[in-house]
Amino acid sequence: MPTRPMLSQLDARYDLIVVGGGINGAGIFQAAARRGLQALLIDAGDFASGTSSASSKLVHGGLRYLKNGQWRLTLESVRERERLLREVPGLVEPLRFLMPIYRDRKPGRRLMQFGLRVYDLMAGSQRSRWLDAEAVQAAEGDLRSAQLLGAMAYDDAVTDDARLVLRLVFDGVAADGTALNYVRATLLRDGHLVVGVRLHDAVQGGARDIAATVVVNAAGALADRVPDAPAGAPLLRPLRGSHLVLPTSLLPIRHAVSWLHPRDGRPVFVHPWEGAVICGTTDVDHDGDPADVRATAAELDYLLEALQAQFPQRRWRLADAVSVYAGVRPVVAGGHDDPSRESRESAMWQSPGLIGTAGGKLTTFRVTAQQVLRAARRELPALRGRHDGALFAGERATDRLGGRYGASAAATMRADPASAQAPLAGTPYSLAELRWSLQHEAVVHLDDLLLRRSRLGLVAAGGGEALLPQIGALCQQELGWDDLRWQREYERYLTLWRHRHAPPV
Ligand SMILES: Cc1cc2nc3c(=O)[nH]c(=O)nc-3n(C[C@H](O)[C@H](O)[C@H](O)COP(=O)(O)OP(=O)(O)OC[C@H]3O[C@@H](n4cnc5c(N)ncnc54)[C@H](O)[C@@H]3O)c2cc1C
Repeated sequence: MPTRPMLSQLDARYDLIVVGGGINGAGIFQAAARRGLQALLIDAGDFASGTSSASSKLVHGGLRYLKNGQWRLTLESVRERERLLREVPGLVEPLRFLMPIYRDRKPGRRLMQFGLRVYDLMAGSQRSRWLDAEAVQAAEGDLRSAQLLGAMAYDDAVTDDARLVLRLVFDGVAADGTALNYVRATLLRDGHLVVGVRLHDAVQGGARDIAATVVVNAAGALADRVPDAPAGAPLLRPLRGSHLVLPTSLLPIRHAVSWLHPRDGRPVFVHPWEGAVICGTTDVDHDGDPADVRATAAELDYLLEALQAQFPQRRWRLADAVSVYAGVRPVVAGGHDDPSRESRESAMWQSPGLIGTAGGKLTTFRVTAQQVLRAARRELPALRGRHDGALFAGERATDRLGGRYGASAAATMRADPASAQAPLAGTPYSLAELRWSLQHEAVVHLDDLLLRRSRLGLVAAGGGEALLPQIGALCQQELGWDDLRWQREYERYLTLWRHRHAPPV
């Protein structure tokens, strides 16, 4: 997709219009386009700018959901994890977890062993095992060693959540779908029947009405607030989760480590990601605007306390973090006092011409897409039979670049000069990757490039400010931005970064 389409270039009517370009909307859009529908995806901000770029980045069954009795969700998630590991290597990668077991702390070895046996059974192979204290210390020397009995080792997977969304979006576009970011939708109705959407373009201005046979509301934590939607959406309980991103130099772990928070017994974790380490997460009611989510000082203190208990070799401070980020879980309200007991299963609702979906997990987007298309089937005769092949069209890539951008994009990047392929200082990203995104991935603002096409803004010191002159020259060259436009983008990005991602000092 070299340039972002204009409202005037859209057709007057689509089979399916998806409102919301997070993981669920992107998954539904891609599956619809690959199954022969004329599909349109729109997002009020950038693709993946909502929760789907602020998750813990795990493609996992979710051990803690087993504890809450959510067997179906865990089973679905474990199956999806296995499929994604097979089908999208380079983007969904295996991640070994260690859960240390101590004489003086919970959880006990027996409970963990039972949970992990169920987890293994669901995946169809025995992968978890016990490591004694000596083996644990050889694997991760910084772990608290007092009273250590050993650790349960088990396998899950990790991804770049925003890149997974973007691959779905552009795969849907390659299958003749149309995707447009920075366009807000309100629903058009004829009485009770939803007949299309009114689109408001935040980039070029203007509005346009587009008809649709079926509209899908996949607006995530905002799904119960899409303007003019008929009643029927379940009440959502937005639950915020925050993370610290730490430099590997301070916590050089090779595995993910999970343990229970000393204050309330909730599971917390650290895991290596994009050359840094993520520490998460919290689970608290979010009372503010679901479109403006920031970690609070109290949440970050909670994470520091968790780190201190498990990695006592240094005094952890907020100033140690490279960045912070927070997202809101679009959880369907079930009336539990404790946010962590609310179900993470997805919900779907329907009214004439409209299907809504919310909840669920990053990991289970494909299950959600199948459910939505099954519900839309009666009204959409053009929908071809269920597609059970590989997730993405084209040659299967197995390396990092191919997984993140697709095999043919990776081949193009590898033809760039070696200097353009070298990682930019302190990051895993190269100028070749940034150039590809600028040319092909509908970048509208600098933050699209640095927070979602790449994750440079989360893993480079100071949001990558020191690299901005170099990146600016590339943006000006590829997008034709003049000095004034660059200055505006520069300021917009740093203001946003300081507001959402700078560790408070
Ligand atoms: C802290 C945290 C950690 C998590 N960790 C994991 C994990 O490790 N693994 C996992 O599997 N899951 C995880 N999840 C869950 C997962 O991230 C979410 O379930 C998932 O990202 C939700 O995706 P979505 O597409 O429904 O919503 P979003 O990603 O929020 O997408 C909704 C989109 O709709 C757009 N939108 C809203 N209103 C309009 C409108 N009127 N017009 C047009 N567009 C609109 C928004 O801009 C947004 O981009 C986590 C969630 C949180 C909060």
